[in-house]
Amino acid sequence: MKGYTPPPRFTLPTEPLPITRSITITEGTSVKDLAEKLEIRAKDLIAGLLAKGVFATINQTLDADLASEMARFFGADTNVISYEDQAAKEMEADQETTESTVGEITRPPVVTIMGHVDHGKTTLLDAIRATNVAEGEAGGITQHIGAYKVKVVDPESPAFGREIVFLDTPGHQAFTRMRARGAKVTDIVVLVVAADDGVMPQTLEAIDHANAAEVPIIVAVNKIDKPDALPDRVKKQLADRGLMPESWGGTTVFVDVSAKKQTNLNLMMELICLTADLRELKAVPTRPASGVVLEAKLDRGRGPVATVLVQNGTLRAADNFVVGNVFGKVRAMFDDRGRQLELAGPSTPVEIIGLESLPQAGDQFVVVADRDKARSISEYREQRAREMALAQSSRVSLEGLADQIKTASLKELAVILKGDMQGSVEVLKDMLSKIATDKVRLKLIHGGVGAITETDVLLASASNAIIIGFNVRPERKAQELAEQEKVDIRLHSIIYELQDEIKRAMSGLLEPTFKETYLGRAEVRNVFKVPKAGTIAGCFVQDGLVRRDAEVRLMRNGAQIFKGKVGSLKRFKDDASEVRNGNECGISIANYGDIKVGDVIEFFSTEVIAAEVIA
Ligand code: GDP
Repeated sequence: MKGYTPPPRFTLPTEPLPITRSITITEGTSVKDLAEKLEIRAKDLIAGLLAKGVFATINQTLDADLASEMARFFGADTNVISYEDQAAKEMEADQETTESTVGEITRPPVVTIMGHVDHGKTTLLDAIRATNVAEGEAGGITQHIGAYKVKVVDPESPAFGREIVFLDTPGHQAFTRMRARGAKVTDIVVLVVAADDGVMPQTLEAIDHANAAEVPIIVAVNKIDKPDALPDRVKKQLADRGLMPESWGGTTVFVDVSAKKQTNLNLMMELICLTADLRELKAVPTRPASGVVLEAKLDRGRGPVATVLVQNGTLRAADNFVVGNVFGKVRAMFDDRGRQLELAGPSTPVEIIGLESLPQAGDQFVVVADRDKARSISEYREQRAREMALAQSSRVSLEGLADQIKTASLKELAVILKGDMQGSVEVLKDMLSKIATDKVRLKLIHGGVGAITETDVLLASASNAIIIGFNVRPERKAQELAEQEKVDIRLHSIIYELQDEIKRAMSGLLEPTFKETYLGRAEVRNVFKVPKAGTIAGCFVQDGLVRRDAEVRLMRNGAQIFKGKVGSLKRFKDDASEVRNGNECGISIANYGDIKVGDVIEFFSTEVIAAEVIA
């Protein structure tokens, strides 16, 4: 418009301010939130965004990258955490500031029953449910919603009146499937072993799965009503596997039961409560609810229906929530007897309706203040899910191990070993246990005989392990799942080759060494202050080449005064990816403006080198 003079505006800093503080933001931070955290006016932030070509309103949410970039511009480092982490953090902060655990209660334990097929898992689950329904509570038809809660009804029991939640999909496959999806649900595993049959392959698998998850095991020796029951033999077999009964001086709780005759079920409940007490399972019912989806299905009449286990806080009818990347509002919720509830406290499984679409078992559930927040988080997560699907998997694999574990403080390679014979498995276990250095450990989380199964792959996925097959192959479904879950399976038939490969993998696990490669240097001949872009150094490349993606070291009188990254590299007016020896270019250093004529900018790249194992 001719003759138009723009109104006076806030003047943005022309270059990023020096980093003076650090803030924590969550996914889907709004402009308003971010401005508050940065302690600047929202309109200044909006102006800053505009300068970057982003037109944003005050309530608009920003993705984490953009929010971080803006924060850096206004002089703050950012720490981006997920919404659940934020909720957890707030809870910790609440607890710290009040200096006591105000409102904290002991929550009921959540139990998964595991064991070999036909050892009585289902019978036990049904018996517990049938015998522990309190008077007056009996109404309502039993619904299988994925979990149920019972009360200890024996008035003689010290645990009288206490509650326990049982997941009603028994078995370690379901347990580990949840874990592979990142959900921690189970507090205690009840391992059922039939006294007439003894320890069987799936008993051992279940032990390994529970151990990998670091969940305590209570052993229920079942079918003691049978004439050929040998409960002591079970104890002996399990003691040999590291589960030493308390009565023999160990730490594992054993209880003899009969699911069929309903013998000792109250004792078992009491022992579960005792074990739970040792774990100090706490929750704060006054908080907004968070939890995990146990099951989800599309119901013809009611739409998407999900069973959610409330793990902390209290879920209320009409709460807004986000689950995975789906959001919704609780329209109604029901317990495992089909009764409608208004409130569901910690460790309560509830079936809820009011979801916009179908979540997946294992998805995290969290209540949010309002629908807008819920929507922005779910949109953000959807986008992130797409990115994750595109991005390379972060699972451990033998190749590129160094890179993948670089940031982990624990240096161990988790391994699942399957072999064709018990003998070869033992030999390999022994061999593998000897490959270790002072920096790297190998952790065998499961070893067994037979083909590589889906369950093995799930365990590998949940525990970030690799699978080694010795003279065995993966089942077809296991192979498919491994591809999907990006689990690394290595097949061998020669011990020496297997040993060699593991050694190489472990060398990848060693503390990586960084190697700097010198690229080139440029001398600063002019310095310009450019609005928005900061300090631009007009340079002459004296040696080698300079690259846009390189790291730089600013040298003044032979001493390093700053180390960082290239902000921009221009050849004349155009962005350049590299400029070679003998040419002029414009260079800016990211987040750094103090460049003077006569300074030298050195360019280099760094790479990680895996160390060799000395076994
Ligand atoms: P699951 O495969 O582990 O779920 O085992 P089930 O619960 O289906 O039980 C397998 C069989 O063992 C069924 O025929 C049950 O009736 C029987 N069973 C389970 N518990 C007991 C028990 O305590 N005593 C006896 N005698 N039989 C039992």
